[in-house]
Amino acid sequence: MDISFAGKRALVTGAGKGIGRDTALALARCGAKVTVVTRTQADLNSLVQECASITPVCVDLADWGATEAALQDVGSIDLLVNNAACASLQPFLEVTPDQFDQSFNVNVKAVLHVSQIVARGMKARGSGGSIVNVSSQASQCALRDHTVYCATKGALDMLTKVMALELGPDQIRVNSVNPTVVMTDMGRLGWSDPEKAKTMLSRIPLGRFADTWREGSYCSASSETSYQGAEEEADG
Ligand code: NAP
Repeated sequence: MDISFAGKRALVTGAGKGIGRDTALALARCGAKVTVVTRTQADLNSLVQECASITPVCVDLADWGATEAALQDVGSIDLLVNNAACASLQPFLEVTPDQFDQSFNVNVKAVLHVSQIVARGMKARGSGGSIVNVSSQASQCALRDHTVYCATKGALDMLTKVMALELGPDQIRVNSVNPTVVMTDMGRLGWSDPEKAKTMLSRIPLGRFADTWREGSYCSASSETSYQGAEEEADG
């Protein structure tokens, strides 16, 4: 399938590693001018080495003020992928306030913030645009030791619906993608233990986890949820 994003400007958060990195590189391959935002400078350096047209921005998205400053000159963006997230796993009874705040700050609050910055520009230009929030199957499915992560992704799905509802009239499309397990650093954290992985794998029709892109590889099961603002409004 030929996809061209020539002439479009894209911003991908959390693109230093994993799914975000591959997304940024794929968008660049399809002709978009890509800005990536992540917090580890070494990852940005290697990404720019791999794809010289990428514009790197180094910031901790959990820091509202620093993000505001880092993105003030980001320019007009047509496509936004809110991909950055963190996962810290612990049994429900051991969740601490810090773990809760850190996860919600990155997985939910930063999505709201970066989307506000980008969508304000889209609206002012009248150009419309597209925003994709990278959620997870964990938004719908209770997973042991994933209390906070599941809660952030549930919140992200609802944030996505309200964004679609409010931004739709300005021709800004908002969707979430909800992947299954992908063997990135985050995926390995939760699912490297074969005992833990067994139950999850038994529920995936292909019987294996997805991987990040390599020559000759492809991703397995994931679902996409599309929210149309008008329909949500009609449903009340
Ligand atoms: P990953 O390999 O851990 O990569 C996450 C990226 O986000 C890293 O580059 C990380 O930078 C960056 N990031 C995290 N916190 C940040 C912050 N405060 N400020 C700026 N950047 C930050 O994760 P992944 O597996 O690719 O996951 C990408 C997305 O897919 C996430 O939204 C995740 O919830 C979702 N997802 C993943 C899976 C899975 O199984 N892997 C399944 C479903 C959904 P540092 O490395 O410098 O922290």
